[in-house]
This record gives sequence, C-alpha cells and structure tokens, in this order.
Amino acid sequence: MKSSVKKIVIVGGGTAGWITASYLNGALNDRGNKPEFLITLIESPDVPRISVGEATVPSIHHVLEVVGVNEIDFMKATDATFKQSIKYVDWLYGEGEAYHHPFSRFTPGPIDRSGSRWMASLRDIPFMETVSAQAVIADIVRAPKTMDGRPFQTPLKYAYHFDAQLFADYLQEFSVGRGVEHILANVTTPNMSDDGYIESVNLEDGRSIEGELFIDCTGFKGLLISETMGVPWEDFSQWLFCNRAVVTQFEYEDHFPGIIRPYTTATAQSAGWIWDTPTQTRRATGYVYASDFISDEKAEEELLAYQGNGAKSATRVIHFRTGQRQKVWTKNCIAIGLAGGFIEPLESTGIYLSELGAVLLAEHFPHDKAALQAMAFRYNRIMSNRYYEVLDFINLHYCLTRRQDTEFWKVVQQPEHITDRLKAKLELWRQKSPSLSDFDDQSFAGFDYAMRPGNDPEIDPRPPTDAAGLWNHASYESILFGMDFRGPEFAENFGADRPNSRVPQFVINAVRAAPKLLPPHHVWLHKHLGMNAWPKGTIPEAWLKHQA
Ligand code: FAD
Repeated sequence: MKSSVKKIVIVGGGTAGWITASYLNGALNDRGNKPEFLITLIESPDVPRISVGEATVPSIHHVLEVVGVNEIDFMKATDATFKQSIKYVDWLYGEGEAYHHPFSRFTPGPIDRSGSRWMASLRDIPFMETVSAQAVIADIVRAPKTMDGRPFQTPLKYAYHFDAQLFADYLQEFSVGRGVEHILANVTTPNMSDDGYIESVNLEDGRSIEGELFIDCTGFKGLLISETMGVPWEDFSQWLFCNRAVVTQFEYEDHFPGIIRPYTTATAQSAGWIWDTPTQTRRATGYVYASDFISDEKAEEELLAYQGNGAKSATRVIHFRTGQRQKVWTKNCIAIGLAGGFIEPLESTGIYLSELGAVLLAEHFPHDKAALQAMAFRYNRIMSNRYYEVLDFINLHYCLTRRQDTEFWKVVQQPEHITDRLKAKLELWRQKSPSLSDFDDQSFAGFDYAMRPGNDPEIDPRPPTDAAGLWNHASYESILFGMDFRGPEFAENFGADRPNSRVPQFVINAVRAAPKLLPPHHVWLHKHLGMNAWPKGTIPEAWLKHQA
C-alpha cells in the first residue's frame, strides 16, 4: 500500500456502511467542504441489507451532528419517532410485571444513595420513579420536547425509532450529495501486497478499486475481515442463547395502537423476547429467540399472538450470532457493524457499535502506513472492551429472572451462563449498591485476571475493562432494581417496619409539569413532521381512553 492514507474504500452499504461513510465525510472532509480524502462506498445490488435495527440510543445525536443532518429533515425522511426508554415486560415472573430503563435519571454526584435507600424502603413505588420523571413521562405518552422547542424543566435525553431501510437511504443521499462516491457492484476478490495489506478489490463488472484503508461493512459474512484477513470470531453463545429473530410489521391502518409510544417495549416470551418499536406509519416487531428452545413456526405463532386479534402479517426469519472478531482492525482492514460483532438487540446497541466504530476511526485515523499498528492496538482494545461491556449488561437482563415456566428461562439463570465479570460485579453489589467508582477500574474480587494468550502486536493482552463507556452504575441500577435484585433478602434484613419509598420533590415537580409543557407524542410528530393525522373519529376515543 502507499505510505500516506488518502483513499478510503468501504465495502457494504447497510446501516454500518452509510454511518461510516457519512461520519468520516463529516469528520475528515468537513462534510465535503474540504475534501481531503476520497471516500468510496461499494454496495452489492444483490445482497440485501439486513434491514432491522430501528431503535437507537442517544449517542446517535453526535453522529447526526457531525454528519451535518437537520433533525426535522432526518425524522421526516426516516419515518422517525422519539424513544425515551425501554419498557421491560414479563422479565421477572412472566405475570405482567414491567419496569422502565429510561435515558435520563437523576444522579446526585459521586455518592448516590438512592439505590440503597430504595432497597431499604417498602419499595412501594418502582425504583425508577424515585430517581426519574422520564418513566412516567414516557408512560403518559409525551414527547421529550416542548412544542416550541423551549427546554423542559430537566432536559430529557432521547433517541429515535426509525425505518432502517430509509435511514441507510437517507445517509446515502446525504453523503453522496457531499462528495462520497457510491458504486453499486459486487466485490469479488481482493488484491493483496506481499506483506498482507489489501491494495484493491475486484468488482464483478471487471473494475478494480484501489485504496489505502478498507472498511468491511458487509454484515455477518465479513467479506474482508474474515474471508480475506482470516480474523476468527469469538463466540458469546455460552452467555446469550438467542440466535434468530422472526420479524414483521403491523400497519396502523390494520392495527391501530391508539397511541405512538415514545419508548421501545421488550416483552419476554417463552424462549426470548419481542421488540415493539413504533414509527410514524407502523410498528416494527420481532421475536428474538433461541432456536435450541423453540421452532421457527412456534416463534412465529407467538409473535402473531402477541399482537392478538388474529393478526396476520408477512414474517421473515433472520439468523444471527452473538460475538465479536478477535480484533476488528488488522493491517489496513477495519470491520464495522455486523462484520465486527453483534451482541443482540435488547438494548439497541447494534447501531451504537457501528457509530462507535466510525467515531473511533476518525479519532484514531492513520494518516500513513507507519501509524496503522499503533492505531489498531488502541482501537481494538477500546472496541473489544465495549463489546464485553455490552455482553455483561445484556447478560444481566436474563440472569436475574425468576421465571420457571419454560426450559429457556430456567437455563439462563444458571451460573455457567453468567459471565465471570458480571458474577464479580453482582457479588460486589450484594454488599453495596452500584456507584460511579465501581467503573474506575474493574478490579473486582473473584474475577479472573489472566492475560490473554498469544503475542499479537494488534491485540492488548490484558483482560477487559468496563469503563462504563455506555452503561454506568445508573444503568445497572435500572435493571437490578427493576428485576428486584436482593429484594427478598432485603425485606428479611429490614423487616416489615420499613419507611415508604420517597420521591424527591424535583421529580414530583417534573411529573406535574409534564402534561402542561410536553405535548402528546403524536401531536408533536403531527405538528413538526406532518405525520398523517389519525383516521377521523379514532384518535379522540383511543387517546381519551389512554388518558383516563
Ligand atoms: P447489513 O445491513 O447486512 O449490510 C451489509 C451490506 O454489505 C449490504 O449493503 C450488502 O449489499 C453489502 N455486501 C455484502 N456482500 C457484498 C459484496 N460482496 N460486495 C459489495 N457489497 C456487499 N441495532 C440497533 O441499534 N437497534 C436495534 O433495534 C437492532 N435490532 C436488531 C434486530 C436483529 C434481529 C438483528 C440481527 C440486528 C439488530 N440490530 C439492531 C443491529 C443492526 O441491524 C445492525 O447493527 C445494522 O443494521 C448494521 O448492519 P450492517 O450494515 O453491518 O450489515
């Protein structure tokens, strides 16, 4: 390869490919105003995008800002709605219980006793409602923003639900309009240098595209990172059993929801869970399940039964695997998106990890060949730490269940299916509630600190560190207390004579102010995005019923 890096070739035009192209164009080329680098994206006309991945986390705001997107234009183009939380239903006993994991909550400085105080109380109010107004605001179906754009009392963090296909199309149009080159063709083989770097890729139509840096965004197959560079896959299925999803959409005309929820609903089923993400025109749903515990046919039945009313809708089954590449960057090849790894969609981390791949690449950009190894070493370390962090956090959602109704739920609680790091964290949190300092480092008693074997200059051999890059102690508390962690023990320790749970005044104030200051979600979407009004006569009844 040439010594200076000027040509970036991205193979794959799914969400990961277009996020990478548009972000790098924003960060390195000043959105096309100062085109220092030639960014080429090659997308197969034959291999479809996976086209799921419709719920996001707030990190997306940074990406959209660097890309240069206007929020209203973006929301209109992608059928987007707001997402403020994930509501977990049936995860503890499968008896209709629910809890929220919202994006905003109050954390009072370095010493936060809200968790331990709540544990020692009667727990007569859900934990989340004692630290955040957002769960209630989401449940009363409010937008996270005021109608005229003035800030709400405590600004509410939010992300989006959108149509994955439209999102990739939108970023494509946006970045091609600002200088990114788009080639519609199948990549067949790479051409390699003697020292193992990719010099160019051959296309089925006979062309050959040269570059200095090659980004593999070809989805699970990992055309370059796996087939060309031979980087192995590290499998996470010992801890996460789900490996398929049956997906469908429910159109509002047929299945009018009454409201457009500003949150994702994740409802546990017999062998996994169903996501329910509302956009402006439809609800996308999918049953994420473990094929060792349920057949595709039975999973489809459960998905349609979830909607009820004899729902019929075309479904498709997606196979996936959870894990990560042993290294996502090797030589001049970097895997971003599903080519680099995937955990599972429970906390919407797929798009986040693609975003992180692009953001870190801009930050660790190798301006010449000599920089590649040092950048790869750091990049691989940070990305793999984040994959392990997500793995632990998703593992937590399953392992605290007390469901005994199916084999799947009995098995996910067994100790051999809980990661060592998570076990060590849970052990500490039996003694104290999670706090910020738990993430200063991960020196927890009981965790195995053996160095990774091998001597690879692109891999840091130290055990992973969870630096709370995405999930901090507050996120852990949401799940732990939502799942009644140590509830029975605490009830015994503190006896019946416990105080009622307390809601701080500022949370009460925010909940009281919300109906006056924050419009209903659908009203905001209607006013600002021109979302279709509800069929005449339907909305008042459904809305009034909900408000009651
Ligand atoms: P793909 O969409 O598979 O794109 C691959 C691209 O590579 C395509 O453009 C294809 O044409 C191209 N390609 C393949 N071979 C060639 C070739 N030879 N030559 C040229 N081009 C080629 N993430 C979230 O954040 N939130 C969610 O709610 C969420 N839900 C999910 C649900 C499920 C069931 C699954 C499996 C994933 C979910 N994800 C979610 C993850 C999310 O879908 C992905 O992270 C995201 O779509 C990125 O996919 P991708 O671009 O890596 O791959």
